[in-house]
Amino acid sequence: MKLTVIGSWGAYPAANAATSCYLLEHKDWKILIDLGSGALSRLQQYVTVDQINAVVLSHFHHDHVADVGSFQYACLIDQQLQKHEREVPIYAARDDDSAFLALDHVATDARAYKPDEGLQIGPFSFDFIQTKHPKPCYAMRISVEGTTIVYTADTSYFAELTGFAEGADLLLAESSFYYGMDGSVPGHMTSEECGKLAADAEVQQLWLTHLPHFGDHKDLVQEAKQHFHGSVKLAEEGLTFQID
Ligand SMILES: [Zn+2]
Ligand SMILES: [Zn+2]
Repeated sequence: MKLTVIGSWGAYPAANAATSCYLLEHKDWKILIDLGSGALSRLQQYVTVDQINAVVLSHFHHDHVADVGSFQYACLIDQQLQKHEREVPIYAARDDDSAFLALDHVATDARAYKPDEGLQIGPFSFDFIQTKHPKPCYAMRISVEGTTIVYTADTSYFAELTGFAEGADLLLAESSFYYGMDGSVPGHMTSEECGKLAADAEVQQLWLTHLPHFGDHKDLVQEAKQHFHGSVKLAEEGLTFQID
């Protein structure tokens, strides 16, 4: 399984960058996790839109879904140019009917996942847990042939995340805030909480994502390393994780 960071900013994209979006690949399969603002443009440096098999969304905040509409237009134009009728499935939990139904389009198909039942897409097995966030949001545990990536999506820290992330090869954890700050009201984690989570869950590697527009991101890494002694990286665009 291979994961490439397409966008890792929280809230809005910095110049020439994107908010939350990750490309998951295994053999011929290519899946997008979240599709934030700027993501469609940055994505095309790595793959073409017609190569994407499916999209899985964590929740309906703009920094995770803003480019869904652009993706639908891109899929439509691909249908017209290539003369096919392929509809790309976009999976999300159906907590918000109007947001969910907007995933349906002539070139895309809205599909609901039930968080307690998990989801299988091609070779990828997904498990979900609802996070602590103002809008319903789901962290994802994604496994293929014994390799596991856990993506926290947006959340403040809560104890059950530790069991959910247990033993992951890669933990992609949202670090919207720095040491000493309180993310519990907006529903986000600090670097310190990410480090503790990675240590308690005994993961192999920690990547910090959903990065803030203030402070020095290198401090996030140092703060997480106070608690987790494995590899800690910033999830910068183009960073890849791969285990075959
Ligand atoms: Zn959010
Ligand atoms: Zn977000």
